[in-house]
Amino acid sequence: MQTTATPTHCPYCALQCGMNLTPAPDGTVEVSERTDFPVNRGALCGKGRTAPAVLASNVRLTSPLVRDGGELVPASWDEALDRIAEGLRRTRAEYGPDGVGVFGGGGLTNEKAYTLGKFARVVLGTSQIDYNGRFCMSSAAAAGIKAFGLDRGLPFPLEDIPKTGCVILVGSNLAETMPPSLRFLTELKENGGTLIVIDPRRTKTAEQADLHLAPRPGTDLALALGLLHLVIAEGRVNEEYVRERTAGWEDARAAAMAHWPEYVERITGVSVPELRETVRLFCEPESAMVLTARGPEQQSKGTDTVGAWINLCLATGRAGRPLSGYGCLTGQGNGQGGREHGQKADQLPGYRKLDDPAARRHVADVWGVDPDSLPGPGRSAYELLDALGTDIKSLLLMASNPVVSAPRAAHIEERIKSLDFLAVCDVVLSETAALADVVLPVTQWAEETGTTTSLEGRVLLRRQAITPPDGVRSDLEVMHELAARLGVEKGFPTDPEEIFEELRRASAGGPADYSGITYRRIVEENGVFWPCPAVEPEGLTGDQDGAGGPAAQRGAAGRPASTEREETVGVAHPGTPRLFLDRFATPDGRARFVPVSHRAIAEEPDDEYPVLLTTGRVVAQYQSGAQTRRVAELNAAAPGPFVELHPRLAARLGAAEGDPVAVVSRRGRAVAPARITDTIRPDTVFMPFHWPGEGRANSLTNPALDPTSRMPEFKACAVRLEAVRP
Ligand code: SF4
Repeated sequence: MQTTATPTHCPYCALQCGMNLTPAPDGTVEVSERTDFPVNRGALCGKGRTAPAVLASNVRLTSPLVRDGGELVPASWDEALDRIAEGLRRTRAEYGPDGVGVFGGGGLTNEKAYTLGKFARVVLGTSQIDYNGRFCMSSAAAAGIKAFGLDRGLPFPLEDIPKTGCVILVGSNLAETMPPSLRFLTELKENGGTLIVIDPRRTKTAEQADLHLAPRPGTDLALALGLLHLVIAEGRVNEEYVRERTAGWEDARAAAMAHWPEYVERITGVSVPELRETVRLFCEPESAMVLTARGPEQQSKGTDTVGAWINLCLATGRAGRPLSGYGCLTGQGNGQGGREHGQKADQLPGYRKLDDPAARRHVADVWGVDPDSLPGPGRSAYELLDALGTDIKSLLLMASNPVVSAPRAAHIEERIKSLDFLAVCDVVLSETAALADVVLPVTQWAEETGTTTSLEGRVLLRRQAITPPDGVRSDLEVMHELAARLGVEKGFPTDPEEIFEELRRASAGGPADYSGITYRRIVEENGVFWPCPAVEPEGLTGDQDGAGGPAAQRGAAGRPASTEREETVGVAHPGTPRLFLDRFATPDGRARFVPVSHRAIAEEPDDEYPVLLTTGRVVAQYQSGAQTRRVAELNAAAPGPFVELHPRLAARLGAAEGDPVAVVSRRGRAVAPARITDTIRPDTVFMPFHWPGEGRANSLTNPALDPTSRMPEFKACAVRLEAVRP
């Protein structure tokens, strides 16, 4: 048995903290500090520290399950795979390729996300693929592409944060979501910088702030416009920067001028003096940053909201300059890489657009298929889930638990139940897996190797540290076996490094160019920031493959050794820790102002539903909780859902601390104990969304979609509260 420590990364959030894993003689796995990784320097939150608990066989699946007489019963791998192939084949024959849907997850490695996108488009021929990362940062991605021509979570490393003059943190509670990252804010303050936190709740992060603004949920767009109005009115626009590095200022300026501070105060509840102080703190230093997270992004106007914050950065010259910029704190472990390499409905590997003929030709060539055989863009995540049982009859789902995490979850649960056939690959029997016709137990994180891309755009290597238990296989093996059963014998290898080599070719020349990145470089350099093109083009891309056939086919026929691969590439590009310093990724190199105006959330409170609900996370649980709810230490710290409400609201309801409270929206009802605190606005209640059943917060949330990003409005909907009498 291997007893040395394997350096790797946490399986959970986008910070991708470094850690060492060592198998212990008793079969458990020990986590120890990995101080050489600069992001967390050894620090881990409770989730990362306890992550090995989910590797234990008593909490996970170790045998395929098939539904028999209504029950899920153990089956052989061959039987389970045959059933899935048959289910998908039957649906295709009856309803066509788009009768089959594929739903992925932001936790999948780049290699898995890439292979899943290829599997959907090449083997199944379906356009109906998307992933739960759509629910994470898609609004920031859409706004970033509009303004900068490129979306990468942070366009600078986290280590720049302590050196800037001011950070406005919008709708992010790093103290709970990414605790080790809090030190960057602490160091910012120690260096004399200012922290402004914008959040309807006085969170643990907000308590660290020099200034905390608590706007009404769903009004951050108006808030940003009000700040830009004051920037203009106070003569703080960086005219030279606007002239030389941007386009579209006049329209954005006119839109902002319509948002008077007093008008913004009425909308947001943030006072005019607070607005003025924010502008002063943001504009006076040499450099400043705006960082957004799910608060402004998970709205039916999330793209415009992020766009408004980007406009503020552009008007003040705080983008594409040293120690200044706009960034999105992406959420899921590989939310960033997952959307770069093909599991998103409208994208091909390398962040290429699926409706771009040149992109289709390039990727089709790498895949060895006719570009015309590739389907076009499909439905976004919520729309795909909403079409289950009607247009989409069968679903292959990996690493996602929409029964808990999708908006309007009770409806989505019914849609899932109405499917003709559901296959789920997961490590545990999640609430969604429990509804499947076939469940495949797959390897996870410490049991396999693969790359992820962190919120910094840093491509990292998770390395296999232990041998997986008998009975489980990797998602890559699953797709290899299913492809073969569906008639595609080549092009679906199971070795992650071989897949990464193909991904490099597929991404070459695209916005997210990984062609200069190798496993070896990732290890030697502690991660490589994309874009990182290969210097030597010969033999690298499918377009340039002069060997009479797609490079992918050569790879499938016999892969070269790792060192040989690197020699053929001639790696030299250093990677790109900081984007946009010389030019933005637009055709003329200028950033674009996008004129935006305030609009209300999709469902404002009224007499029947007079209170606002906002949802979020707690430190000891992760996303749908499928993994973390199976860790005793985390469950002890966060055993179940709760309804956080202000004492005035609790008094009106007649509820005391711990009393069950029913929260009712137009979509459903959830019941959880009251947690009474004056750290929340009196017009708002908060629920974490990690739990299924009676306390499921997403029974209530509104699937109203952003017109550009197709992000649902998780962050604000109208509810009423009811006291629950025993
Ligand atoms: Fe893992 Fe995120 Fe916690 Fe770091 S902050 S240990 S990456 S869950």
